[in-house]
Amino acid sequence: MKKYILMVLGLGFLYACAPQKEIVKEKVEVVKEVLIEKPCECTKYEIPPDWKDESKREEKIKSFSNVLSGIKFFIDPGHGGKDRHGKSKDGSVIEADVNLRVALNLKNYLEKAGCNVFISRTEDSTVDLKYRSELANKSGADFFISIHHNAPGNADDTWTNFTSTYYHATEDDYEYNPCNRDLARYIQRDLAYVMDNSNGLGSFDGTYSDYNIYPKEGFSVLRRTEIPAVLVECSFFSNPTEQRRLNIEEFNAIQAWGIFRGIGRYFTAGIPSITFVKDKSIIKDSHAKLVFNLFDKKGINPKSIQVFFDSSEIDFVYDKKSGNVTIDIENLKKGEYEVKVIAANKNNNHSLPFIQKIKYK
Ligand SMILES: [Zn+2]
Repeated sequence: MKKYILMVLGLGFLYACAPQKEIVKEKVEVVKEVLIEKPCECTKYEIPPDWKDESKREEKIKSFSNVLSGIKFFIDPGHGGKDRHGKSKDGSVIEADVNLRVALNLKNYLEKAGCNVFISRTEDSTVDLKYRSELANKSGADFFISIHHNAPGNADDTWTNFTSTYYHATEDDYEYNPCNRDLARYIQRDLAYVMDNSNGLGSFDGTYSDYNIYPKEGFSVLRRTEIPAVLVECSFFSNPTEQRRLNIEEFNAIQAWGIFRGIGRYFTAGIPSITFVKDKSIIKDSHAKLVFNLFDKKGINPKSIQVFFDSSEIDFVYDKKSGNVTIDIENLKKGEYEVKVIAANKNNNHSLPFIQKIKYK
C-alpha cells in the first residue's frame, strides 16, 4: 500500500515538474531507496506496564498466586544440545536458545506465584523427544507447556511471522480434551498481545490443532503427554524483524510474561470439577445407574455437558440444583467400560480430562 501511494506521489511529481525531468527523476529514486526498498532496522517491542515496574510485577504475580499456588507445571523448552538446527538465516538466532531463555523466565514467574515447576532442560543439553513426555508423565505435574519458535516450510519465506498455540487432536476425536484448547487460548491471547503479533490467518483465535501439521497424529509431545498440554510457537525466527528482538533478554522475559499472564487468567476463569458420586466402579447388575457431580464456583454451563460411554456420546439427565449428571445404561454385557464426562463453566473453561472405568462382573 505504502509502495503504491509513493509511486502515485512520485508519478504526480514527475507530471507536475515535467520540464525539470532529470532532477525529478533523481528525487524519486532517492525516495524509493530510503522508504521502500531499505528494510527497517529498528527493533520494536513494547514494555508491558505491569512488567516494567518491579513492584507492579510483584503485585501481578501475587494476585495470580491466589489461583496458581500449589499447581505443578512441566515446562519443555524445545530442542537443545545436539538439536540446534533451527536458526535464522544469518545464524544469529538459535531457536533452542531462545526457547530456553523464555522457559527459564516463565519458570521463575510461576515459582514466584507458588507453583511447583519441573523443566525438561535448564541448559543447552540433548533431551530426546519421547523422553520429554515421559519425564512430564512421571513428574506428577498437572500441566505441560512446550515452548518453541517457528520457521516456514519454504526457506525463502522471510515475511511470515505470527504467534500460535497448539493443542492435541480435533473436536470430533475421542482423545480431544477441550481444556487443552482453553489453556491454549489464554496463553495465545496474552503472548500475542505482549509481542504485538497477529494470530496468523489459519485460526481466528491463534490456537491450532496439531493435526494441522501432522494429520491424525499431531505433535509427539502433545500426543504422548498424559496431562493437559499445549505447545507454544511464540513467533517466526526466520523473519528478519522478529529475529532482531529474539536475542534480547529483556524481550524474552516479556514473552514469558505474556505466557505467565495467560496462565494466570486461565486459572482465574476457573476449572469445573467432576466427581463420581456413587463410587461403584464394580457393577453387579446389567442395568447400571451412574451419577457424577459437576461443580464450579462460577456455575456450570448446562449446554456444555457431554457424556461418553465406551467412546460413544450418550444421553444423560442433569439436575441443575444438585449439579448431578445421571446416566442409565441397560442391557450391559459383562466386561470393562469407560465413562468420560466433559463440562464447562460459565466462563467457557472446560473440566480437566475425566475418565471413570466401570467393571460389570
Ligand atoms: Zn521447535
